[in-house]
Amino acid sequence: MTSNRNIPVENPATLEVLSEVPDQDVGAAREAVDRAARAFADWSRTAPRHRSDVLRRAFELMLRDRDELAGLIARENGKSLADAAAEVGYAAEFFRWFSEEAVRPGGEYGDAPAGGTRTLVSHRPIGVAALVTPWNFPAAMATRKIAPALAAGCTVVLKPAAETPLTALAIARLLAEAGLPEGVLEIVTTTDAGPVVTAWLGDQRVRKISFTGSTGVGRTLLRQAADRIVNASMELGGNAPVVITEDADLDAAVVGTMIAKFRNGGQACTAANRIYVHSDVAFDFLAKFGAEVEKLIVGPAVDGAAIGPLINARALHRVTEAVDLAVREGARISHQAQLPDVPGYFYPPTVLADVPADATILREEIFGPVAPIVVWRDEDELLRQVNETEYGLAAYVFAGELGRAVRLGERIDAGMVGINRGLVSDPSAPFGGVKQSGLGREGARDGLREFQETQYLSVEWPT
Ligand code: NAD
Repeated sequence: MTSNRNIPVENPATLEVLSEVPDQDVGAAREAVDRAARAFADWSRTAPRHRSDVLRRAFELMLRDRDELAGLIARENGKSLADAAAEVGYAAEFFRWFSEEAVRPGGEYGDAPAGGTRTLVSHRPIGVAALVTPWNFPAAMATRKIAPALAAGCTVVLKPAAETPLTALAIARLLAEAGLPEGVLEIVTTTDAGPVVTAWLGDQRVRKISFTGSTGVGRTLLRQAADRIVNASMELGGNAPVVITEDADLDAAVVGTMIAKFRNGGQACTAANRIYVHSDVAFDFLAKFGAEVEKLIVGPAVDGAAIGPLINARALHRVTEAVDLAVREGARISHQAQLPDVPGYFYPPTVLADVPADATILREEIFGPVAPIVVWRDEDELLRQVNETEYGLAAYVFAGELGRAVRLGERIDAGMVGINRGLVSDPSAPFGGVKQSGLGREGARDGLREFQETQYLSVEWPT
């Protein structure tokens, strides 16, 4: 059952309504679990090769429709076409990677130390999985969960962000074309996120919650998961530092920091949030980096812009306030790109220099195209500041000597550290954070394990 309400989906670059999707209620969410639970019996028993083939076809279909999907992502999320096309490629890779992992479920066989029994260990699908995804990577955040869940033999109910439901629906259509049976992937579009997900977590058939979004919502969902001891994976917020040493290749550091900061217009959980530059090179770095920022073209994706808008008016207000506060606390706007003369939630890419080490903006996730720069001198004090945050998702180190870069990376409390590069995302690597940035990993072999339970059979063995 679905209410008669609809969710208008808006292009944040033009403020035009692109289309509408049903605003589904708790009743519809429960019915989605009914269908996913029914489908589980068959899907969980399919041969791994069969699941692998479906995922492989989904990978190929996503690449076939790459331009169309990129256009859709750019329209509903606002990001540039280049970022959107890169996202489709990244998102599709999860289907390819997990099509390969699906046929390598692993397992163990062993002799009990006392003899007389043998142990057979296998990894079984956990059950119906509830997936909740954000708007900032509407394709990749969905496939990073859907692909391992399906590979493991789970069926899923997915709630995409209300801002960007169209991409998730397009991916579901591709999976159906790839041969995914009905009921294995159920999508629920809603503005009633809290009640819908609470209903899922209260349903005994749902055995898994995999969430990507803010730390605050993750905390709420963990509390709810505790009631029924539901297995939880959490990909939460970040506050990534960039560290640039005095011997770093400065041009490479500028290129890497531009990617770490401005990919997706700064609306990435892995986005550089604080840039620590050694005092010996701070002047040169600021000049080179600032010049690149001033060159960024801001505007709607259709006009070929590199930087799109923020997702909505609330985000625009939040970023504006954060910069105003930073300036009141002593920071200086040193460089800024031009704003386009169009409607849309645009904020100009901005460099903040002379940021005091205790400024509020360094403690909070900016989630926008603003680059605060802090000058450092002493390595131990630098590491103290870098690690003085509740977050621990991504970090970046640019240093001339690789050994030093790796040593610094190992002393940063983060799940992922880019060494002399501004991008860490890779489907074959375990993506995830420490501290309040999350629990569990996505991608790699680890991503499959998040959707499996380990079972062993202890077998009386005649000798
Ligand atoms: P959000 O937490 O507001 O929303 C994320 C999802 O949760 C959306 O689908 C939303 O509808 C849903 N939601 C909101 N309130 C809910 C509730 N009470 N109960 C259940 N579901 C609820 O986050 P956002 O603004 O969409 O995304 C930005 C955040 O996501 C940032 O903090 C960012 O760092 C984080 N993020 C993390 C990763 C990662 O892999 N660690 C990746 C992308 C984004």
